[in-house]
Amino acid sequence: MTPPTPSTKPVLRDTIIPFRAGDGFDCNLVHVQGDQPPAKGPVLLVHGAGVRANIFRAPTAANLVDVLIASGFDVWLENWRASIDLTPNLWTLDQAAVHDHPLAVRTVCERTGTSELKAIIHCQGSTSFTMSVVAGLVPEVKTVISNAVSLHPIIPAFSRFKITYATPLLRLVTDYLNPQWGLRAPTWTAKLVNLLVRLTHWECSNPVCKEVSFTYGSGRPALWRHENLDEATHEWLKWEFAQVPLTFFAQMKRCVECGHLVSVSGFKELPADFIGQPPATDARFAFFAGENNLCFLPESQVKTYRYFDQQRRNYHSLYTLAGYGHLDVFMGANAARDVFPLMLAELDKVA
Ligand SMILES: [Zn+2]
Repeated sequence: MTPPTPSTKPVLRDTIIPFRAGDGFDCNLVHVQGDQPPAKGPVLLVHGAGVRANIFRAPTAANLVDVLIASGFDVWLENWRASIDLTPNLWTLDQAAVHDHPLAVRTVCERTGTSELKAIIHCQGSTSFTMSVVAGLVPEVKTVISNAVSLHPIIPAFSRFKITYATPLLRLVTDYLNPQWGLRAPTWTAKLVNLLVRLTHWECSNPVCKEVSFTYGSGRPALWRHENLDEATHEWLKWEFAQVPLTFFAQMKRCVECGHLVSVSGFKELPADFIGQPPATDARFAFFAGENNLCFLPESQVKTYRYFDQQRRNYHSLYTLAGYGHLDVFMGANAARDVFPLMLAELDKVA
């Protein structure tokens, strides 16, 4: 199918709707509206670690938000506690799964007067939101489009080395890493990290792009293929990455060692082991994985798809995207041609 890609950028209106997470942490939703009232139901977009809701809005000819609005969807972007727009905090996936996403879903349902919604979730927005879904905490969610990783995080060997040896050492001197240190290094730790990045990364002249590759995954660059980004997006991403707490990396290390997500905060709402019992949901999942993902290997999504397919045969779907990595699935100059039509078709699929 051909997506209704806007030929010129539509004028969109943002409304920020604050919501308080279950433990009192202040989060918000960005409700994006076009010039026509939405003809379809709400879609919630959930960003990854150390970025913000705006990560879905790269300055490409047509980003995912533009395409969803042009297709008639009611678009809601969630700034959950990992967002760089919110107060820095030492978050875990568990906190987001129990306290943030269920409240975000409920707020969207209340505001739109609907009882169901669809979600597009990325990376740690995907792991934590999938935790909410399989724990039965967001029964309103009926369709989930997940990118990069969900229940089974599998990472490259060098990332395993980093998360096992380097991250615990860093925790002795800092609670956070921050790719903004490429632009301004305010502490000795920041200056040291900056020096290490400059010694080991020569792939481009964007200091934040290189700090991002130092912080996440394995590769130069790690979260996208340079050839997939246009110049404006490569420049824009400088302002889209900031603090990420090392508490998250500690939880991911445990999950990687176990081969699947595990909870670490002891909340009664979450199972200790997320594949120890059937998922408490009837939501249909479409799993997406860039074949060149150097942050979470595509096997991560393949494994979770197989797990879900065993639970309910021929209900869920899997897409591996040739030539794509981690975030270029959304930020790529050609994502509107290569990726978004697949996502739109999944959103429009009748259960
Ligand atoms: Zn770069």
